[in-house]
Amino acid sequence: MNKELRYVIIGAGMAGILAGIKLLERGETNFVILEKTNALGGTWRDNRYPGLTCDVPSHAYTYSFAPNPEWSSYYVGGPEIRRYFEKVAADFGVMPYIKFNSEVTSSVFDEKTATWTVSVADGTSHEVDVVIAASGVLHHPKIPNIPGLETFKGHAFHSARWNDEAKLDDARVGIVGCGSTGIQILTALTGRAKQVVALQRSPQWVMPVPQFDYTDAEREAFRNDPKLIDDIRYNKDYWAAIIRFTDGITNIDGPEMAEIEELCRQNLENSVKDPALREKLRPNYRAACKRLIYSWCYYDHVQKPNVYVETGGIDRVEPEGVRMQDGTFHALDTLVLATGFHADRFIRPASVIGREGKTLDDAWAVRPTAYYAVSIPDFPNFFLLNGPTGPVGNFSLIDIAEAQWKYVVQLIDRLKEGNARAVEPTKDAMADYEERRIAAAKRTIFGSGCTSWYLDDTGVPASWPWSYQAFVDAMAKPNYEDYRFAA
Ligand SMILES: Cc1cc2nc3c(=O)[nH]c(=O)nc-3n(C[C@H](O)[C@H](O)[C@H](O)COP(=O)(O)OP(=O)(O)OC[C@H]3O[C@@H](n4cnc5c(N)ncnc54)[C@H](O)[C@@H]3O)c2cc1C
Repeated sequence: MNKELRYVIIGAGMAGILAGIKLLERGETNFVILEKTNALGGTWRDNRYPGLTCDVPSHAYTYSFAPNPEWSSYYVGGPEIRRYFEKVAADFGVMPYIKFNSEVTSSVFDEKTATWTVSVADGTSHEVDVVIAASGVLHHPKIPNIPGLETFKGHAFHSARWNDEAKLDDARVGIVGCGSTGIQILTALTGRAKQVVALQRSPQWVMPVPQFDYTDAEREAFRNDPKLIDDIRYNKDYWAAIIRFTDGITNIDGPEMAEIEELCRQNLENSVKDPALREKLRPNYRAACKRLIYSWCYYDHVQKPNVYVETGGIDRVEPEGVRMQDGTFHALDTLVLATGFHADRFIRPASVIGREGKTLDDAWAVRPTAYYAVSIPDFPNFFLLNGPTGPVGNFSLIDIAEAQWKYVVQLIDRLKEGNARAVEPTKDAMADYEERRIAAAKRTIFGSGCTSWYLDDTGVPASWPWSYQAFVDAMAKPNYEDYRFAA
């Protein structure tokens, strides 16, 4: 393990910070984290909308090596998570390795030297042995193509580009989209806005969950006894829920999915009093086909007198508000586009050019994919964290990234041994993985007949289609025969 390697990590979000910490832990210091903005935190820096809350219990949405006794509540808000990442990055000594305002524009592999040249928008470049792409999934806002949007006289903006000048208090606010983000914004605004119009294309299933604040005494106890944190993080009920969820999505006629569906259905039946509103909020697809909403308060808020759920399609935006297809007009001061992200972009638009001039756009001509979500044939020594085909759902992506790192580092160790300069999955292994993955993906709940960001352009679910345990097992050790090691 003597060979010293040089690394570029792209992105200083949760996954990039993780990679930096893990390299330092191994005594490796020859790396730089290139971050395109002027601050770390990724998702939790970009999203500042009112109501932003992690829907994974706070003690589980933490790095396994950096428990946080200070969390204020069971489900915690975005600003607190951002501060957590800032603190961990500082505590673990990663800050000096982050180069801010450094947008990676291209990464080009040179076969002769087995090195990557990573170029930055400011004209600088880095020659390295290994690239870790930790550039995020839900990162490129999707702006809907609504006629007249640009004519709106109030503030109209995407939820991940929150406009602090927008009128909210005593205002008429329209929210386009009712996924997790739209619902969180709605619940945060009902007490402030004069009227909230939820412009809903398709309703969501809502899983009821508990929410509560931790007391000072509980936080003191967490500080003194980390086992109390572990009891929450590794709590059997929480893990049972994750296993139930992933078993359910992969066995859609099994008892786990029946339980999820029943919990959501009862939540709707028991919580929403007005039958007409209840029917507006009843999805016509199966629970968990779209990402499940976890909420303890949405149904309370959506029933408030100043909320109107509009289910007719939007025809156009006019200077004073939104016109529906049936002619109904909603006068608005502010229009929030909670319309999600281009979940298929990953590191793009940065160009990545691998062996023999092959581009990532070539490799992903049909759909973005990666062998076990971490590496791609023709792109040696290029590893992704939270890359395509990885698990997504109602569990912590921190755990996913940590498991992926454990896998990636075993491949890196082969390079450090000095016998190989380049490692990439074989084309056969990739083809076999894709064939199995696509066949399994079509059978998951995500493929059961709804539109969602889980689907790729061909309608195939883009995520990990097997159980959580199958993912953990796959990440425990690479199957080295599926890799090509070049001297
Ligand atoms: C509103 C919202 C709520 C969410 N809630 C949850 C939740 O409850 N639970 C959960 O597990 N996950 C949740 N997620 C998913 C969340 O994205 C992940 O948990 C996690 O933050 C992803 O970390 P990351 O480092 O992989 O990506 P990101 O946080 O997206 O960070 C990527 C970083 O890379 C940088 N970058 C991108 N391209 C370049 C480039 N070319 N050059 C340099 N830098 C670049 C970006 O600026 C960014 O800082 C949520 C996402 C959103 C949008």
